[in-house]
Amino acid sequence: MLHRATKIVATLGPASSDPVLLEAMIRAGVNVVRLNFSHGTAQDHIDRAAMVRAAAQRVGVEVGIMADLQGPKIRVGKFVQGKVLLEPGQPFVLDASRSEPGDVNGVGLDYKELPREVKAGDTLLLNDGLIVLTVDRVVGPAVHTRVKLGGELSNNKGINKEGGGLTAPALTAKDMDDIKTAIGLLADYVAVSFPKSASDMELARQLCNVAGASIGHKAALIAKIERAEAIPALASILQVSDGIMVARGDLAVEVGNAAVPALQKHMIRLAREMDKVVITATQMMESMIVNPVPTRAEVSDVANAVLDGTDAVMLSAETAAGKYPLETVKEMANICREAEKTEYSELGAAFKGKTFQRIDQSIAMGALFTAHYLGAKAIVALTDSGSTALWMSRHNVRMPIYAVTSSRSTQRRMALYRNVRPLLMATSTDRDTALADAEAHLKERAIVNSGDVYAITFGEPMGQAGGTNTLKICRAA
Ligand code: PGA
Ligand code: MN
Repeated sequence: MLHRATKIVATLGPASSDPVLLEAMIRAGVNVVRLNFSHGTAQDHIDRAAMVRAAAQRVGVEVGIMADLQGPKIRVGKFVQGKVLLEPGQPFVLDASRSEPGDVNGVGLDYKELPREVKAGDTLLLNDGLIVLTVDRVVGPAVHTRVKLGGELSNNKGINKEGGGLTAPALTAKDMDDIKTAIGLLADYVAVSFPKSASDMELARQLCNVAGASIGHKAALIAKIERAEAIPALASILQVSDGIMVARGDLAVEVGNAAVPALQKHMIRLAREMDKVVITATQMMESMIVNPVPTRAEVSDVANAVLDGTDAVMLSAETAAGKYPLETVKEMANICREAEKTEYSELGAAFKGKTFQRIDQSIAMGALFTAHYLGAKAIVALTDSGSTALWMSRHNVRMPIYAVTSSRSTQRRMALYRNVRPLLMATSTDRDTALADAEAHLKERAIVNSGDVYAITFGEPMGQAGGTNTLKICRAA
């Protein structure tokens, strides 16, 4: 089958927590699974992680695990009847002091700070923007609003303020507990919901590192860009994160639907420029939650994210709670492969006027350039940390990048990198042995055959992270 460069992240849930199905989904192309900490208990996630590792082992691949933290719940409380129907024009009161369940006149708030953070004239969007309220006045703990766009409002629906400005901290007490669970199950990625600034991510990093210190595990950090405030802070957030998620669900509510496509392109471009990874998420194949085929618009959306240069496309409810999880993954993989055919490489233009500070990065770029213009069969990077493979994968080339590492956690982390095939191999500290082993490994997997030319990068002396200083062009024996 044709090589696929773009990776697929699939959310696990009731619809996909079955070993046989999970194995089939991995065979069909899932590279990273997302454990959604907004639902389920710690034990559910631990069990699912174990199921993923076992299924991946049966398939003979490594699948990354991403723990997605819930973040602050800026939500309304519960209703007597579970829900109410709001009519346009009617008054509706959001009251932080209300402890009894809500009715058609008003409801309590999980987020007690709301009255201090809104003023008359503000627009509040509930339930992903399906319900719109205009703030008339704030009286103590009570936010008096008028319904602008009505509809059904049920228990615990989310609240966003148009234009952003709600100050709930990105990491709640629950998130701090969940970080311990996530690190304990050796999550390769931790995704932080609703960060507003670099310092939110730095705090998450500290908590992850502390949780992982005793077991020697470090998770990579993904900032979910879903708040209006995160947009101007994007570069500084990227700087302290390993990657971002274009979290189009909440983002669209805060900045308006129409702004999201251009923001997606901007985010993907900036992430790649800064040598970070990027996941495009939410509603990519939404109709496949109930239908066995996607809409034409969804096909275009996935293809366009691929053309924008995303590392991965993500499935949420499609695989967590949908009727066709396996079909959705298959369909998505097909769309990626097809879209990648039309992609072209602009290596020359990408390097024009560029300088590098680091030796390892220069070697990575030199290898990419040489292999591309030489028409090599493959690029191979012997890597401890994965950075050589990451740098190489920030540019489009037609040949796959085989990242050979002796670290399983590096291998799993690289599962998300676009166009990178992670391979696990014990690497010898003797250079000639390591190179011969790598070539044997590639030939065994029919990645290269006798006579094929490939480029390989490594560091001398062998086995030191960040030590890549050598490029060799080889013809396979
Ligand atoms: P969520 O994040 O699914 O956890 O809300 C993604 C998004 O908001 O798009
Ligand atoms: Mn979200």
